[in-house]
Amino acid sequence: MSAVRAFVTGATGQDGSYLIEQLLEEATEVHVLVRAEESEAGSTHPLPQQVHQHVGDLAVGTELEALVAAIEPTEVYNLGGLSSVALSWQEPALTAQVSGVAVGHLLKATHDLQERTGRSVHFVQASSAEIFGRTSRVPQDETTPLRPLTPYGAAKAYAHHLVGVWRARGVHASSCILYNHESPRRPDAFVTRKITVGAARIARGLQDELAMGNLDARRDWGWAPDYVAAMVLAARDAVARDYVVATGVSHSVRDFVRAAFQAAGVEDWERHVTLDPRFARPSDAPELVGDSTRARKVLGWSPTVPFEDIVARMVRHDLALLDDAQP
Ligand code: NAP
Repeated sequence: MSAVRAFVTGATGQDGSYLIEQLLEEATEVHVLVRAEESEAGSTHPLPQQVHQHVGDLAVGTELEALVAAIEPTEVYNLGGLSSVALSWQEPALTAQVSGVAVGHLLKATHDLQERTGRSVHFVQASSAEIFGRTSRVPQDETTPLRPLTPYGAAKAYAHHLVGVWRARGVHASSCILYNHESPRRPDAFVTRKITVGAARIARGLQDELAMGNLDARRDWGWAPDYVAAMVLAARDAVARDYVVATGVSHSVRDFVRAAFQAAGVEDWERHVTLDPRFARPSDAPELVGDSTRARKVLGWSPTVPFEDIVARMVRHDLALLDDAQP
């Protein structure tokens, strides 16, 4: 039996799927939280058979506490939550519950498990650059004041504070402040995947237009498996801390669109892109770009895939999906 036993929430999401692959490769015993009604059906990637599935919901805190007590993990990775900023405007209370309050339950359960067993349990929170919101500091680092602009950012900010609170009570709890990270496993409800799917479909003559909201917003985009690797490094460092996990380079949504059409082999991208105010977000953070010096120095972490390659990998995947679907 593996000495490391991980409990992972959000296992069916983009990051969860990469995290589970990494943990299984190193023979970690992996336990995951799945929702009764959706678990694999709603998954972007099916759960491997070796994974132990536990039915529960982040909205039901007592269930989470009971699961942590029963599984007795040595590492807890909290990747679950309502991860869409856009959806958080529709569901602010649910966002607060599953991306904020749930983290308090998981941290309390981690603390109680430590007290009961006398073993240290390492906790990692998948936090977000959205906690910085309308900051005037560019780039942001671990000392940047939190100024969330969205219900998603506010819930993540509360969770981020909780990590600090429980760390002060002796829990080995780290918060990884993740900047946007992408992969072919990103659901197409997110703008980046919407762009790569749209560019692929236009390249294959299946649609002519891609309707976009704001092309000027700037983000720091990285490669999802790199960000998962950072969370594992944070869990295993001797000292628990907060870490900004980012490339340090920002691009506009326009840059993303241009790179996607280029990768799809469509030259006149501007002819295919329309602006539709229905897709513009209220009070979007203007420029989020992270200074990951601490993660690089302390954890030896660095991003491995440049921006254009990330976009090209996603477009190639979407072109292949379309080509495979051809009769
Ligand atoms: P994702 O693909 O949207 O996955 C979200 C996961 O949370 C899914 O497994 C989902 O399960 C689960 N979940 C949602 N509501 C739940 C509930 N009530 N109970 C139990 N599970 C629930 O997100 P991701 O891109 O992998 O992101 C992972 C984490 O990193 C999230 O916390 C996100 O906020 C954070 N983050 C991501 C980014 C990014 O760019 N990707 C940036 C910053 C921070 P179902 O399959 O059942 O829906």
